[in-house]
Amino acid sequence: MYSGSCLCGAVRYEIHGDIDRTSICWCTMCQKQHGAANGPYANVASSALRITGGADAITRYASSPGVERAFCGVCGANLTWQMAEHSDRIAVTLGTFDTPYEGLVTDELHTDSKPGWLP
Ligand SMILES: [Zn+2]
Ligand SMILES: [Zn+2]
Repeated sequence: MYSGSCLCGAVRYEIHGDIDRTSICWCTMCQKQHGAANGPYANVASSALRITGGADAITRYASSPGVERAFCGVCGANLTWQMAEHSDRIAVTLGTFDTPYEGLVTDELHTDSKPGWLP
């Protein structure tokens, strides 16, 4: 079981299930949303993710048709990414984990938009 939370602690969640794969997404939308070089995610079954606190603080944004990004409306921490056509899966931001994820990221997406300013 993994637990996680947003920056302000309003939103808390648990993952009761396996992390099937992890990804770093370098797409320009993830860069904008995270304010960072990439968005790191753990891909889990939607049924494994349980919001244990602050569900009413979650704000959702459709960044493209059928794609929804959820974040804390209080502190802005990015929480999940989900495609409507694969609603049985959800990507949870690795940076909001409180339980350390010990594995290595398995997939890199959209590496063509990796910024040149990385060390
Ligand atoms: Zn928050
Ligand atoms: Zn992305």
